[in-house]
Amino acid sequence: MRVRIRAVKRVAGVRWHSVAIVGAGPSGFYLATRLLEKNPEVTVDMYEKLPVPFGLARFGVAPDHEDVKNCNERFQGAAETHSSRFRFIGNTEVGADISLKQLKDNYNSLVLSYGSSEDNRLNIPGEDLKGVISARSFIMWYNGYPDLEPPAGIEQLMKATNVAIIGAGNVALDVARMLLCDHEHHLKNTDVSSEALELLKKLKVKDVNVFARRGLFNSAFTTSELRPMMKLPGVQFRELEEDMILHELQRRDSLSRKDKRLLDVIMKGSDVEKARVSWALNYYRLPKEFLGDEHHHIKGMIFEVSKPAGDSENKKVVSTGITRAYNTQTAFRSIGYKTIPLPGMKENGIEFQPGKPCVPNKLGRVLNAKGTVIPGLYTAGWAASGPTGTIATTMMTSFSVAEEILEDLSHERHKKPGYEAVKPLLKNTQVSWEDWDTLKAYEEKEGRKKNKPREKVTSTRQMLEIMKLN
Ligand SMILES: Cc1cc2nc3c(=O)[nH]c(=O)nc-3n(C[C@H](O)[C@H](O)[C@H](O)COP(=O)(O)OP(=O)(O)OC[C@H]3O[C@@H](n4cnc5c(N)ncnc54)[C@H](O)[C@@H]3O)c2cc1C
Repeated sequence: MRVRIRAVKRVAGVRWHSVAIVGAGPSGFYLATRLLEKNPEVTVDMYEKLPVPFGLARFGVAPDHEDVKNCNERFQGAAETHSSRFRFIGNTEVGADISLKQLKDNYNSLVLSYGSSEDNRLNIPGEDLKGVISARSFIMWYNGYPDLEPPAGIEQLMKATNVAIIGAGNVALDVARMLLCDHEHHLKNTDVSSEALELLKKLKVKDVNVFARRGLFNSAFTTSELRPMMKLPGVQFRELEEDMILHELQRRDSLSRKDKRLLDVIMKGSDVEKARVSWALNYYRLPKEFLGDEHHHIKGMIFEVSKPAGDSENKKVVSTGITRAYNTQTAFRSIGYKTIPLPGMKENGIEFQPGKPCVPNKLGRVLNAKGTVIPGLYTAGWAASGPTGTIATTMMTSFSVAEEILEDLSHERHKKPGYEAVKPLLKNTQVSWEDWDTLKAYEEKEGRKKNKPREKVTSTRQMLEIMKLN
């Protein structure tokens, strides 16, 4: 019986399963690709708040990591291969231009893969002083996020010789590299925003201190991200102070391979003949306060010295009661991104759990406040996991959520109308995949003139003009 109905639908040119995806980042694209490849009766509509796709693969991944952005070519290819069943609806914010309920009512499956759009705060005194900069804002700015001014605190940064970075993840290392590299040579052939590059070239930074509240083996950065830091021309890595590594050296004989590799890189340090600038890692330092001057500008920081709590494998630290002061003219807050609820989630039964900033889910199926699966609602990527994991891990989890959706759709009996029903509800100027192709071609053409992979357009108005939508 079911086979017969499907055949009738196909003859009529109507697809059986309509899927909407919120967010055109890597997780949304990997999930879409898997659905489209595996089930020829699925249509995918991807709603994206920006006029351009790829999320953090365009606006997070560092400009000097062009190889990481190869995933975007794969997404581009999938969109072209499946163009008859894939629709990009850019410049359309879910929760503002269209509600969650409207999407849920009109699609068989709705996937929330909208990433993590805020940054965590330290919640310590002085955090709002001028010169305390959000790493997230800085990164979005140098990556050409649309309509973004230089981050608050840039005036202090432009004068600073000494910079602190709070947090020791890959993002902190990206920030350190962007501050310390020889901008002219290191970045000129990348897709860094041209306006940002002009300012970065004028930086006076001589020394960067990265601070972590726990020890070396709890660093959130990966050894593969640390290695290139040790090879940056003219950038000297300063040896770790003894009290910051003592505990780790005592365990040297019983380390895992991963920890041993990390320790080796740290002990080897950088091999620089003539240092232009320097940087250091500072472990067991709990940030307590940003100190300000009479103009409300940051002038330093107070840290409490911590030590491992209990046995050596324990990740927890306790304070020693000792405090240390550091002078610094700028500090970056780089302690992670944060997933926030979308407007209308509560009305649809979705509530974030205290202390768990992600969409509540079981293997990608969204749960209501009672912990029961909400049929037809899924989540993937950083929205589902919180802001951890690389593009590769995002790919793996997105593929498995796609399998869950395909399984559920195989039992689905009712077709929902999808975009046909939603289109009349949309007020905004929507960007299609063809429009994006026009902008992409423009950016690449402009990039070629400067030997860059692309010259990103950084204003929404200009983007829409190039796409002839204004
Ligand atoms: C600074 C930084 C550097 C990184 N560097 C690397 C690296 O070198 N290598 C690596 O493997 N990984 C890297 N990562 C991790 C990688 O970027 C993530 O794993 C990946 O981007 C997560 O994908 P996502 O789709 O879940 O989220 P995102 O990439 O954030 O995509 C979410 C999308 O949803 C859209 N959106 C948000 N709200 C709405 C809404 N209401 N309506 C419609 N659309 C919405 C956003 O605009 C965005 O396009 C980095 C991350 C950061 C922050």
